Amino acid sequence: MQGNVKFYAVIGILLVAVGATSFALYQALTPAPQVAEQPTTEVEPEPTPTVTQVEIGRSVENRPIEVYRFGTGPTNLLFVGGIHGGYEWNSSLLAWEVIDYLTINPSEVPAGLTVHVIPALNPDGLALVTGTGGRFTTADVPTPSERVATGRFNANNVDLNRNFDCNWAPESTWRGATVSAGSAPFSEPEAVALRDYVATTNPAAVAFWHSQADNVYGSACNGGVLPATTALGTAYAAAANYGYVNLFDAYPITGDAEGWLASLNIPAITIEMESYIDTEWEQNWAGVQSWFDYFADTALQVI
Ligand SMILES: [Zn+2]
Repeated sequence: MQGNVKFYAVIGILLVAVGATSFALYQALTPAPQVAEQPTTEVEPEPTPTVTQVEIGRSVENRPIEVYRFGTGPTNLLFVGGIHGGYEWNSSLLAWEVIDYLTINPSEVPAGLTVHVIPALNPDGLALVTGTGGRFTTADVPTPSERVATGRFNANNVDLNRNFDCNWAPESTWRGATVSAGSAPFSEPEAVALRDYVATTNPAAVAFWHSQADNVYGSACNGGVLPATTALGTAYAAAANYGYVNLFDAYPITGDAEGWLASLNIPAITIEMESYIDTEWEQNWAGVQSWFDYFADTALQVI
C-alpha cells in the first residue's frame, strides 16, 4: 500500500514538473501580446504621391505604350515624348529623365496637379534605332551622323503626327518630303492610344517633345490659337530659353496631334529641342516647372 502511494506520488510530481516546464516553454515561445494602439489626435499625413505606371495601348508591332503618373491633383498635365520614334530619340530620353526625377522627388508636383508622362508614343520607331521600344541609353543609339529617318515612322510607315483628326489627308508633308498619314484619322494604334487617354484624363494642357528646331510652337485647328496655348508656350519657351512661334507655318501640316487637341479646346504645344542628341535637361525641367507655376497661379486666381 505504501509502495503504491509512493508510486503515485512520484507520478504526480513528474506530471506537475512536465506541466510546469511546458507552461514555461509556452510562455517563452509565445510573443508578448500587442498593446492596443492609443487613439491619436494627430492629423493623418497626406498620402505621399507615388508613381503609377499604366499601359495605354500597343503599337503595330505589339510593343506596350506606357504612361507614368505623378501626384493626385484634379488638374491633369500630359507630356509626350517620342511621337517621332528613334529619329527623335532624345525626346524619349528626356521624358525618362523627367520620370526618374519625379519618381525620386514626388513632392515637386504641386498639390493641385497630376502629371502624366508618355515616354515613347512610337515604340516601334524607337526600337528601329535603339534596339528596344523601352528604356535605352545613349550607348544604344547610333552616332550623330547616322540619324535614321525611317525611325520617325511607325511600323506601317506612317508619320503619327499626321494621323490625327484635324484637316487629315492621306498624304502629308515633312519638310520637303511626302509622308503617309495613314488610311484615316486614327488608323494607327499609337494615335488611338493617345486619343483614348486624352478622352479619359481630359488634360488641362499637353506638351510634345520633339527635335530639333530650337523653338516652341503653339497650335490651332482652323481657328485662332487658344490664349492659354500662347501663355503656356511663351512660359515654357522663356523658362527653357527656346524661341516661341505661335503657329508653325514653315510648310503645310495636316493631321497633327496638337491641332487635333486645339479642336477640342485643349491647349497643346510642340517643343522642338535645340539638339537631337542632348536632352537639354536643365532647360526642359525649367520649362516643366513653368507649367507647374502657371497652374498654381491660375488656381489661385480662381480662388
Ligand atoms: Zn518630331
